[in-house]
Amino acid sequence: MNSFVDSVNFFEGNNPEKIASEYGTPLYVYNERILRDRMHKVNQVITKYPYTANYSVKANTNIHILKLALEEGINCDAMSPGEIEMLFKAGFPKERIFFIPNNVSPDELIYAIKKGVITSLDSLSQLELFGQCCADLELSEDKRLCAVRINPGVGAGHCEKVVTGGKKTKFGIAEEDIPQIFQIVEKYKLTIAGINQHIGSGFMTGEPYLEAVKNFLQIALKFKDLKFIDFGGGYGIPYHKLDDEKEYPMEDFKKKLEPLLDDFVSKYGFAPMFKSEPGRYCVAEGSVILGRVHAVKQNAGHSFAGTDIGMNVLVRPSMYDSHHDIEVIRDGKTVSRDKLVNQNVCGNICESGDLLAKDRPLPQMERGDLACVLDTGAYGWSMCSTYNSRPRPAEVLICRDGKVKLIRRRETIKDLMRLF
Ligand SMILES: *Cc1c(COP(=O)(O)O)cnc(C)c1O
Repeated sequence: MNSFVDSVNFFEGNNPEKIASEYGTPLYVYNERILRDRMHKVNQVITKYPYTANYSVKANTNIHILKLALEEGINCDAMSPGEIEMLFKAGFPKERIFFIPNNVSPDELIYAIKKGVITSLDSLSQLELFGQCCADLELSEDKRLCAVRINPGVGAGHCEKVVTGGKKTKFGIAEEDIPQIFQIVEKYKLTIAGINQHIGSGFMTGEPYLEAVKNFLQIALKFKDLKFIDFGGGYGIPYHKLDDEKEYPMEDFKKKLEPLLDDFVSKYGFAPMFKSEPGRYCVAEGSVILGRVHAVKQNAGHSFAGTDIGMNVLVRPSMYDSHHDIEVIRDGKTVSRDKLVNQNVCGNICESGDLLAKDRPLPQMERGDLACVLDTGAYGWSMCSTYNSRPRPAEVLICRDGKVKLIRRRETIKDLMRLF
């Protein structure tokens, strides 16, 4: 593929150079049409039984994007009171929020209880703490609802740091400890409304997830009268799309998933609500970062293109060695990929690890070009930092009618000073 942004009309007819000049760089640019499309698709994964996709908002908590999720009818997972507040601000009712924290204080558990947001407990110790909180608050038994996160003993993912299931990870309650869950439940008169798992992130085939579902449904049989069973997130997106990498096979996955559910429902006697927790899939492809090339140089035969997209703006390449495709835009037009030269694309942070792409074949970059980094909607802005005291970038949304809307203003140095 020569250009993703051209092939999907990402800028909806707007000139990217004009957007960059108007709002400045680095700039997160979102496309409403693509965001809605992915949210819609993932909400259709199960149609035969009650199902909801819970968008895992840690991927992107911009309130305007949460509003799209609200409109698309998907529910949300939050990992912290901050994320819950963002969801309330976007208009989500408490029933559409699921709190999946780990290692949190009693204050955070009490916060969720008081807000009426159902919480999943990630260890026996946190389940016990939750029970104590319910007792201290003198909650009636019918209000002592919660979920538990099980670690199914298997994990998978695009990089070791994102594998969240399996014996070596910090998450969930081990399957062998399930009898102890029931002891705590009995002691505090709790009701386990649901169970959840999340084995990892970035799957490009259905198999690891299907295996995990099969295994989890086996575990679910140990729990009576569940209201929901939540299989977790992890659907990947093609980060190598310029090399024609294929999408996650959603249709095929859906076909293979259904018989597993049929089998479970016939054994269990009824169909609880099934859930999944997609983060990346909903938002990654709906955003690019536009950054300016401010310097090009050769260091001992190595070619460097220096941009304003530092590791503070997009940390995934430095943190996980993640690949993000990059397109070069000159005078508002995508530069053809006919002739490619290996280049290191780096940011403006004082760290040699501040590298967006290493020895990457790209059109020869020149000062003044725009680097357009693809697939940055998930774990992009939400992982931004102010390292090197650089204010965090602005975000704009290109609406379906082509209008460009500022959805988060650029942070300023004054904002950074505010905490002192
Ligand atoms: C991060 C996370 C997700 C979302 O993962 P993706 O790979 O972005 O789909 C889902 N569930 C839990 C518990 C998570 O921590």
